[in-house]
Amino acid sequence: MVIREEIEIEGISIILERKDIKNLYLRILPDAIVKVSSPKNLSDDAINDFIKSRIDWIQDTREKILENPPKPKIKYKDGETHYIWGEPFTLQLISNENSKKAFYNADDAVIYLPVPKRSNIKQREKILLELYREEMNKNLNYFLDKCTYFVGCEPNEVKIRNMKNWGNCRKDKRVTLNLKLAKKPPICTEYVLIHELCHLIEFNHGPRFRALMDNFCPNWRGIKKLLNEGE
Ligand SMILES: [Zn+2]
Repeated sequence: MVIREEIEIEGISIILERKDIKNLYLRILPDAIVKVSSPKNLSDDAINDFIKSRIDWIQDTREKILENPPKPKIKYKDGETHYIWGEPFTLQLISNENSKKAFYNADDAVIYLPVPKRSNIKQREKILLELYREEMNKNLNYFLDKCTYFVGCEPNEVKIRNMKNWGNCRKDKRVTLNLKLAKKPPICTEYVLIHELCHLIEFNHGPRFRALMDNFCPNWRGIKKLLNEGE
């Protein structure tokens, strides 16, 4: 039999379960709830001491979970919300007989996703990513003109890719931008591009680099936060 109670230690509520086990166990569940399992006959003091000895770890772990709640899983289903340049659109799946490429109607805020019959998530994602790639390519010159004007340097080449980071700048002055930037408000692409162009002046992220960013993109810290929020 399991005896379940809720206790509070240093402001954190903890679910305590006493059952037929030999050792104490402490777990933090994905929703940041702390759960302790204890042998049935262990004293309250022993349990409290055990929890208190791990309180720093408990607090750190809970903070991390609460700051980054798990993201709802994207399924590329009808009616799902997806973003283009920071604006919400409703996804609508259509047959891929007439078009293989995704397109959108800005007035109705609908993205049309042509998909083969019985398509899976990966296939749908790939089709939508091509829309983002197209958006990035379409607007690249606008961003480049604006940002090279601010920073006063030009890269040798700019490529659009599906990649892990938002942007990248190599020592040979080639810049790569993540195509998913087209999901975010345009200011995010400007921030990333200015960041990469600043690497043409200063390769590292040291104080000199940050001073350049402060100069060319004063609100870069706020934009960085916006960029890394949500999907
Ligand atoms: Zn960098």
